[in-house]
Amino acid sequence: MVFYPPLVNWQIANQKGDLCILPAILNHCGSCHLCETKVQYACPKSDYPGTFMDGMLAEFIRVPHADESLLLAPKNVSLESLVMLSDALPTSYEIGVEGKVQKGDRVAVFGCGPVGLSAILTATIAKPSVLIAIDINEHRLQVAKRLGATHLLNPTQPDFVQQVLKLTCAPEFSDRKPGVDVAIDCAGKAGTVTAAQQLVTVGGKVAVVACGIPETPVNFFEMQKKSMALSSGFMSGHSVALLTEMVARGELDPSPLVSHKFKLHEIEKAYDVFSHAIENNTIKVLLVNED
Ligand SMILES: [Zn+2]
Repeated sequence: MVFYPPLVNWQIANQKGDLCILPAILNHCGSCHLCETKVQYACPKSDYPGTFMDGMLAEFIRVPHADESLLLAPKNVSLESLVMLSDALPTSYEIGVEGKVQKGDRVAVFGCGPVGLSAILTATIAKPSVLIAIDINEHRLQVAKRLGATHLLNPTQPDFVQQVLKLTCAPEFSDRKPGVDVAIDCAGKAGTVTAAQQLVTVGGKVAVVACGIPETPVNFFEMQKKSMALSSGFMSGHSVALLTEMVARGELDPSPLVSHKFKLHEIEKAYDVFSHAIENNTIKVLLVNED
């Protein structure tokens, strides 16, 4: 893992006209124990736009505790990349990758929607040796390949499990047990979480990034036999500065995640494209101001 010193050039956006990044979690106090231990989403003051506070489809918004969250955007980064730094990248990185994926690991990402694709992109930071993208949609698998996936698999293929195990049993892994070292679930299906638990190796980790997964059985005896770690959570936004720095340096390029771009007056068309994601090969839709 590359270590970055504190960002000397990082600035809070505080001038009229500043282009800024607003992480999806905000309003946290920045000084309580939860904020200091990087679980800002659990801070009693934290909020998500569009939940208890108003959403963002407005001409003006008020950002509480802006000193903790409103970050000045680097000038050399495209809008397509900047918008991914608000939620998709930090969510996938903080819950799926950070502290879990190590150099040389065998990694599988279940689900190649925007967050799953972001997990693939941010997992490349740790330089895994195998990075398997798993989805039933061929277009999304091809995007995964552009973002760094080393292998693409469709879970509906009858020999899917055998294919994963075969990839993890290559000669260079002869001193390791079969299975992936880290399974990242971004699909949000009970079946994928179960499959992730089955495919993870001894000493492996299962990270559940997807929200609202139906009731899912967890076999604790299987966990014990594998010394498996199971984790989940919500993004806190503490990685936004690091990820933005990497994007600004050209070390991460999330722009392929934006599949469609519309002007604000085309918002109804944008929502239609978003609502029919599979038919339109939609990943993320970017709405921009008129000028
Ligand atoms: Zn706090």
